[in-house]
Amino acid sequence: MQIVRGIPVSPGIVIGRIFVLDDERLRIAPRHIRPDEITDELERLERALHASVEELHELRDVAEVELGHDAAAIFTFHVGALSDKTLTDPMRVKIREEHFAAEYAVYRIMRDWAERFARMPNAAFATKIDDVRDLSARVLRHLIGEHQSRLDQLDHKAVIIASDLTPSQTAGFDRSKVAAFATDFGGRTSHTAIVARALGIPAVVGCNSLGAIATDGVSVIVDGDRGVVVVDPDDAKLDEYRSYREQRRLEQLTLDEVADLPSRTRDGVDIRLLGNIEFADEISALLDAGGEGVGLYRTEFLYLTSDTEPTEEDHYHAYTRCVELLDGRELVIRTVDLGADKYTQEQFETPERNPFLGCRSIRYCLRNLPMFRRQLRAILRASAVGPIKVMFPLITSTAEFRQGKSLIRDVMEELAEEKIPFDSTIKIGMMVEVPSAAILADVFAREVDFFSIGTNDLVQYTLAVDRTNERVADLYNPAHPAVLRLIREVTRAARRRDVPVSCCGESASEPGMAMLLIGMGLRTLSVTASAIPGLKRLIRSVSTSQCERIAKKAMTFDSDTQVTTYLRDQLQKIIPDPFEGRA
Ligand code: PEP
Ligand code: MG
Repeated sequence: MQIVRGIPVSPGIVIGRIFVLDDERLRIAPRHIRPDEITDELERLERALHASVEELHELRDVAEVELGHDAAAIFTFHVGALSDKTLTDPMRVKIREEHFAAEYAVYRIMRDWAERFARMPNAAFATKIDDVRDLSARVLRHLIGEHQSRLDQLDHKAVIIASDLTPSQTAGFDRSKVAAFATDFGGRTSHTAIVARALGIPAVVGCNSLGAIATDGVSVIVDGDRGVVVVDPDDAKLDEYRSYREQRRLEQLTLDEVADLPSRTRDGVDIRLLGNIEFADEISALLDAGGEGVGLYRTEFLYLTSDTEPTEEDHYHAYTRCVELLDGRELVIRTVDLGADKYTQEQFETPERNPFLGCRSIRYCLRNLPMFRRQLRAILRASAVGPIKVMFPLITSTAEFRQGKSLIRDVMEELAEEKIPFDSTIKIGMMVEVPSAAILADVFAREVDFFSIGTNDLVQYTLAVDRTNERVADLYNPAHPAVLRLIREVTRAARRRDVPVSCCGESASEPGMAMLLIGMGLRTLSVTASAIPGLKRLIRSVSTSQCERIAKKAMTFDSDTQVTTYLRDQLQKIIPDPFEGRA
């Protein structure tokens, strides 16, 4: 049994079997075959070896012409190795005498061979290890296909272990196959984590060394509540987690009962709880959880889940579908926020050196006007069907906001000429997610219809901490006094100009931070659907004056750890953690 700690990003406890998703780290679990399958299995091995050698011959010929003799020699070594019986005969023995499946035979013999190279004192031999891995992956690909597509062939739910996953990979997961996932890289507010929460897939990221010990087929516990992954758990650990899972289920039942009650504080103030969504399909779960509308629709996921760029009609259908499902409730559509960790195929092929500070989000849209106009046309057309607000992400200057707004006016004129209906009074707001926007909140407040504070980015840009980087995850804290001061600037500026302000960053779903935000005057929070029942219970247990006192006190501390500890203590007094000290 091995216990690995990471960052909990999507709650839930899953006990399952490992499926390693990285090809280059592919690990094959020992699988036995029946004696009557030996002949077929030996033939499978011969076919895979033959196909690999053919492929290598072709690669060698191409390399000889295009790269020269030295480069081609690499493939000569590979062909030689696969044709050498001292390497391949032990594979046949593993199948014939030990009754192992062909993929395990190849994996095992290649691994032993790589280890022999690793033990050699001469450094030149160490470089051969990569060749052996490469060779092993090639033969295995011929035996079991691309690992990614093997996921499609899974007939049971598995726990995915990968070094990293992109938001689009995660969004593409089939919920009936993926029970949970754990990765070596990633941070709490990375979009991969956000999608996991949206899909309700328990997940732990930033595990560092998990990839090195994970093996296909081995049993595993993923504890998405506390950020723990237990590989090959013993019976005592399994029992401990089974009983914790049961207690958790009972706790969830009591939370579900809160869903239909008003989101009102003890002194009678309504706090609107809206949802953050990436797909229209999330809306029914959001309404079931007690959400009153959508405060953030991340429309870039239309791009991330499709191979082709969405047309105006694709946008329009997605938006009208949301409008219909919401049936008159609020819908805030955020214009495309591509870039950084959410990239299109084209962006992927031309990576930026520092994408979080690069051509992302509104900048990308303003430089790709035909694409941006397509989206704005669709939003405006859908605004004739039901209530919609539009919001620009990553605004850093008034010029950007004005450009976006004048583009909307332009598109409105175009639609009017075409006699296409739209809501000419549509509200246009912006996210406050970079320090420049927060500092200039009083200036922006004269021009915007509403603000939505995006703490996910605000924290990373204020503290210079990459939100996706597990190595600096301990420095990423929305309770940092610098972040709190910026939020206070925004709420004050908004109040002075009577501009509605909400928070749609992940911090709004953390109960301690939620109390603080309410204490600073926020009356609308937009969060992942699954966080709504817990937040509602909290809201019904506190008064706004209590939250104001907490916010006031929190603002007196000079370090994020002091604020975090203080908020945790206050929360524990209001709603004791039922699981504290368990498991
Ligand atoms: C944010 O930055 O807080 C936010 C809500 O936007 P996203 O997470 O999509 O960057
Ligand atoms: Mg953001």
